[in-house]
Amino acid sequence: MFGPNRFAPRLHDVPHEELEAAGIRGLIVDLDNTLLGFRETELAREHLEWVARAHDRGFRIVMLSNNFTARVTSIAAQLNVACIPNALKPLPFGFLRAVQALKMRRREIAVVGDQLFTDVLGGKLCGLYTILTEPIEAKDLALTSFFRFFERLMLPNRRVP
Ligand SMILES: [Mg+2]
Repeated sequence: MFGPNRFAPRLHDVPHEELEAAGIRGLIVDLDNTLLGFRETELAREHLEWVARAHDRGFRIVMLSNNFTARVTSIAAQLNVACIPNALKPLPFGFLRAVQALKMRRREIAVVGDQLFTDVLGGKLCGLYTILTEPIEAKDLALTSFFRFFERLMLPNRRVP
């Protein structure tokens, strides 16, 4: 029920070819600790390049984040992707808005994020393919520390900083 379809250390470790082979051409991507550390404001070159190459190959990407509007919109602008801040993941409303924005069928969309109980659970509730990444750093929104405790119970072998 809770398990993701795939694990990856970072988003840029997922080959575009693999997603294409699975029929995926849309991505709903988390921000904090998936694309960059909670306290960071500069994206890693690897993620900028991964997203640029994804666009070149025809992927569509929406950023879906529980963080506040100013931070989410500024990072989304650096990546040239649409964004939905204050998403209240794992509730389905934000995911459904993202699906609408991508204008594709659900089986063509993958959710990528570092949290089991927001990104993966919310994606699964909406019938989407899910990829769980390793969190970039330990710090995150306050509620996340609470979720991390249960993640450790569910995924005892997972690497978490
Ligand atoms: Mg996150």
